[in-house]
Amino acid sequence: MWTIFWGILIVAAVADVLGLLLWYACSWPRSQVLGPALVRGPADGKRIALTFDDGPSPPYTGQVLDILQAHKVRATFFVCGKDVEQHPETLRRIYSDGHTIGNHTWAHPYLYFLGRTEIAEEIDRTQSAIYQATGFKPRLFRPPYGGRWFGLYPALRKRGMRLVQWSVSGDDWKLEAHAIVTAVRAGLRPGAVILLHDGRQKPGGFLRRFLRKSTRAMGSRDQHLQIHPPAMTAAETVKALPAIIDTARAMGYEFVSVEDFASTR
Ligand SMILES: [Zn+2]
Repeated sequence: MWTIFWGILIVAAVADVLGLLLWYACSWPRSQVLGPALVRGPADGKRIALTFDDGPSPPYTGQVLDILQAHKVRATFFVCGKDVEQHPETLRRIYSDGHTIGNHTWAHPYLYFLGRTEIAEEIDRTQSAIYQATGFKPRLFRPPYGGRWFGLYPALRKRGMRLVQWSVSGDDWKLEAHAIVTAVRAGLRPGAVILLHDGRQKPGGFLRRFLRKSTRAMGSRDQHLQIHPPAMTAAETVKALPAIIDTARAMGYEFVSVEDFASTR
């Protein structure tokens, strides 16, 4: 009797630890367990990189570009293929303004439980959409929600691509402009990679299918969309951006493309 009890307890404990390890490996933004992730640039000097995810998304992307242009700041945009297809002209402006373009998958799915073919498709469809619009082939990739899964790193290696995470988040999907500025300022260090968003995405892939099924079973149709409610639009990011730039410059920081970090490490 006691043997069974202890057996169950040990199995449960081992499962918990394994689950925790898996969560850390795949979901912790700075984890390097599954493969290398660029989290920040060199700590020497005072260079920092602004990154914008989830666009191109008019009118916000254009407004972000106007501010960057007025302040002579270079940034990096991790774009979704499905939105590139909708707004190729916005992507062309990102490119012609001298910013770096990175791949942020086609449909913004959680990569968890996706097969190798599905992951490769998310990358390749987006690479071709970006290439078709600009003639540029990104070398940087950022997974949606920072989530990684088996099969992602081999796919990136095969394509000569580098995975980029972030060291400071503006939490701009949930904060108002002044709080975004505070969050970014608090995380500024030499080599910081700052995460902001010029658009909004809903979860796709496995989690979306799973949530859709489970919420249907509960008799509610669109509730699955509420797990990531677009509480704040990218208008708050646009509002916060001039103050972020001014604050960082007043602290002596210089803005570079995240690609400058990727080539030095
Ligand atoms: Zn994203």
